[in-house]
Amino acid sequence: MRPRTASPDTDREGVTAQRLRPFGTTIFAEMTQLATQYGAINLAQGFPDFDGPKALLDAGAAAVLSGQNQYARSQGHASLVSALAADYERRLGRKVDPLTQIGTFSGCTEALMATMLGLLDPGDEVILFEPFYDSYPACVACAGAVPRFATLRFPDFAFDAAAFEALITPRTRLVVLNSPHNPTGKVFTRDELVALGDICKRHDLILVSDEVYEHITFDGVEFVSPASLDSLADRTLVLSSAGKTFSVTGWKVGWSYGPATLVAAAQSAHQFITFSTSTPFQVALAQALAPDGPLGSPYLDTLRADYTARRDYLMDALKSLGFIVTAPQGTYFILADFTPLFDGDDRAFVRHLVAEVGIAAIPPSVFYGASDDGRRLVRFAFCKRPETLTAAVERLSRPGAFRRP
Ligand code: PMP
Ligand code: GLN
Repeated sequence: MRPRTASPDTDREGVTAQRLRPFGTTIFAEMTQLATQYGAINLAQGFPDFDGPKALLDAGAAAVLSGQNQYARSQGHASLVSALAADYERRLGRKVDPLTQIGTFSGCTEALMATMLGLLDPGDEVILFEPFYDSYPACVACAGAVPRFATLRFPDFAFDAAAFEALITPRTRLVVLNSPHNPTGKVFTRDELVALGDICKRHDLILVSDEVYEHITFDGVEFVSPASLDSLADRTLVLSSAGKTFSVTGWKVGWSYGPATLVAAAQSAHQFITFSTSTPFQVALAQALAPDGPLGSPYLDTLRADYTARRDYLMDALKSLGFIVTAPQGTYFILADFTPLFDGDDRAFVRHLVAEVGIAAIPPSVFYGASDDGRRLVRFAFCKRPETLTAAVERLSRPGAFRRP
């Protein structure tokens, strides 16, 4: 398999354990460092360049100042697991036990690692959709398991049930789904999930559903969680976090929801990774999630409307510059084919963009393990202030910004 490393030279001396050596430094750290070095506008790493809602920030400050500063319960602060259980009960219309069916983590990143360590034995196989979020294969590798890749193909990224099922072997144990999907912006349809559910049931697979962009969808597209389908509810572990929904990626509060056995397996690893997650931020988030709190549905409607406008602005600009773009249905990323503009692969293109144009972006080939599709694509993040996006489009529109084939 091609190496997926962002920086293969980070460990010249070979000190890092073999299971992690192939992964080098994550592309997000690498590109953000280059953005700083070149004074480029950072459309690479997916973090908002604006603050989260004031009511949430105030709740965080109040929690710190009111003495909520010691270890929380390992599985999650009582107020947060109650608020999350109530939220899932409302959305899924079924009873959720806050004490056994919810767990908390330091962001979804830790939730993913704890889940893989808690559920996989060496030699187990895991099916990942590619392009994948970069931590998935690293988590699989840390568990001693083996990844298999189901490719979502540009431009429609449809789920190919037959190709997916052909990857299954007697060792296959788990599937990781991410919807809304980073970096394609795809939102899996109910029909696709029903087909996936049927396969998971027939082969007795666990489904891990990464839903960190659950509230960021566009054009009335409905996000459907596999946990909402009867066929999948008893085998799905939902993972999510506060970072994207509340524009506080640095708070690192994540959680799980699902059958008590799956939740417990992930918690068994979590207790030895961090033991517990930041107490004041859990307390603050519990308040934010209350349906009658300041961050109920009007907040989420505004979030979606703001991101829709930013997506449309950047997408229209990219199209008029000659990129081939499919409209993302969710997330805050646009994946674009740059080949009409530039002669070279995605690595060469982002190097050119950061050094010559002053824009940092992500080369998506690092999100593929089997296919070469990423070599003609580039990912831009639009979770930025309108003025940041305007400045970025101004740079991209300068005459001679791209070398022509
Ligand atoms: N999953 C996906 C698909 C992501 O894009 C991200 C990135 N932010 C994460 C998980 C990690 O989430 P967190 O910041 O909560 O660790
Ligand atoms: N999820 C973010 C992205 O896809 C970055 C997360 C990170 O930097 N680790 O851009």
